[in-house]
Amino acid sequence: MLEHPEARQSALSPASALPLLIGGDWVPAASGRSFATLDPSTREVIALVAHGGPEDIDRAVAAARSAFEGPWSRFKPAQRQDLLLKLADLVERDFETLAMLDSRDMGAPITRTRGGRERVRNLLRWYAARATSIHGQTIATSTPGEYTTYTVKEPVGVVGAIIPWNNPIASTCGKLGAALATGCTIVLKPSEESPLSALHLARLCLEAGVPPGVVNVVPGFGHDAGQALAGHMDVDKLAFTGSHLTGQKIVQASAGNLKRLSLELGGKSPDIVFADADLDEAVPGAAMAVFMNSGQICAAGTRLFVEDAIYDDFVARVADYARTLRVGPSLDTATQIGPLVSSAQLARVQGYLDAGRSEGARLIAGGEQDTRGALAQGWFVPPTVFADVSDDMRIAQEEIFGPVISAIRFRDIDEVIARANRTQFGLASGIWTRDVRKAHHVANRLRAGTVWINCYNVADPSMPFGGYKMSGYGRERGEQHLEEHLQVKSVWLRTG
Ligand code: NAD
Repeated sequence: MLEHPEARQSALSPASALPLLIGGDWVPAASGRSFATLDPSTREVIALVAHGGPEDIDRAVAAARSAFEGPWSRFKPAQRQDLLLKLADLVERDFETLAMLDSRDMGAPITRTRGGRERVRNLLRWYAARATSIHGQTIATSTPGEYTTYTVKEPVGVVGAIIPWNNPIASTCGKLGAALATGCTIVLKPSEESPLSALHLARLCLEAGVPPGVVNVVPGFGHDAGQALAGHMDVDKLAFTGSHLTGQKIVQASAGNLKRLSLELGGKSPDIVFADADLDEAVPGAAMAVFMNSGQICAAGTRLFVEDAIYDDFVARVADYARTLRVGPSLDTATQIGPLVSSAQLARVQGYLDAGRSEGARLIAGGEQDTRGALAQGWFVPPTVFADVSDDMRIAQEEIFGPVISAIRFRDIDEVIARANRTQFGLASGIWTRDVRKAHHVANRLRAGTVWINCYNVADPSMPFGGYKMSGYGRERGEQHLEEHLQVKSVWLRTG
């Protein structure tokens, strides 16, 4: 049975659906159901995938628990390191396949997905290195009597991971890396929009020698598989990446056993351009801070604050730049801007384009679905720039998750800091200036998990990433990511 509303007639039969990985075995969904995953450039069915539901989540969590308490607990840090290094090599070997899968499944241009090779390999190697450097402390206490006191770091246990569709390879590898490095086991639910690369990565985990049950992958939808994982009483930690609205549901669903949570949620990040910036760098920098991945980037700098003295000229240059970007199907190597992931995402973005117009913003680039020629088959929106946006407009407050810049005028530094912070989100931010003191001053006062100065969207495994306010809590990457997978045990030994 095809469950995707957009699925066109497919020659594939449900029997050919890609199975779930549970306890080291490839199995169909307990319900026998499957769903279609589509190419957003063409709306063609790429594959059928077993539709995991609550029963499959139960089986996967049981497998993860038994692996956690069984052979996996006897793996030494150096063995876990070896596994992660092998996985990094296999991911590098198969990167072309993985890149093709993501580009077809969620529409990112192939040049973008291919470009992630080194980053993803380095990410897994970084987690591999961390596997052998997890340690507690010996602590001198002031308690009367004689004691030897120390702390031990232990894996938190079974981790449930739920990820979105916008960056599947890196999201999956980040979740796998932290779990494997710390000695946890994992049940991963990829997005229903883009499950294919996670299934291939699961295959590579087995090939690397990860024991059965340590990594389980159960594609399914949010309302069944996702909800079941978030609410499961035997999951010790849930690592969620997605929208803040789903994040709120996750918090509620997780309350039953008070599982540990990390929430990597959305944003409406300010990108601030001062008149003294290197404008030749800032124009493409600010444009691609939004248009990359068709705006489907959590950290996108969608509130573009531009200083009054350069506002008109700068915004016109960004619009000119936007018009040079080539919109096209994801597998075309000339494409810079691919499709949006789904018809639902297209409808959402179109709703904001209408809202921008009706609230009085001035549209100066893009603004309509691109239906030229073969693009009519897919869900394409060209890079769009709204000028004269005010802070209270919906396009200045709500996450659009599409290629839409809201350009806002400002006059002085205190004013722009206050306005940049006036949002429910706090994921990321950007500053463009040649003045070092000004850059630090603003960076210190922005309430956001990341500040980029004269750059945007740069990332490294060693740099923590996560949000303030409704952009969530917890950090991915960096030492803190590992800490979130570890318990601290205090040991008191009376020696007197
Ligand atoms: P989403 O919240 O709709 O879905 C994310 C995942 O949650 C999917 O796997 C989905 O199946 C699952 N889900 C949906 N409802 C659920 C429920 N009730 N219980 C459990 N799971 C459920 O988000 P999306 O549209 O897939 O992705 C876009 C969002 O993700 C944006 O808001 C974006 O900013 C955010 N995001 C954040 C980061 C970050 O690191 N902060 C990174 C990428 C994306």
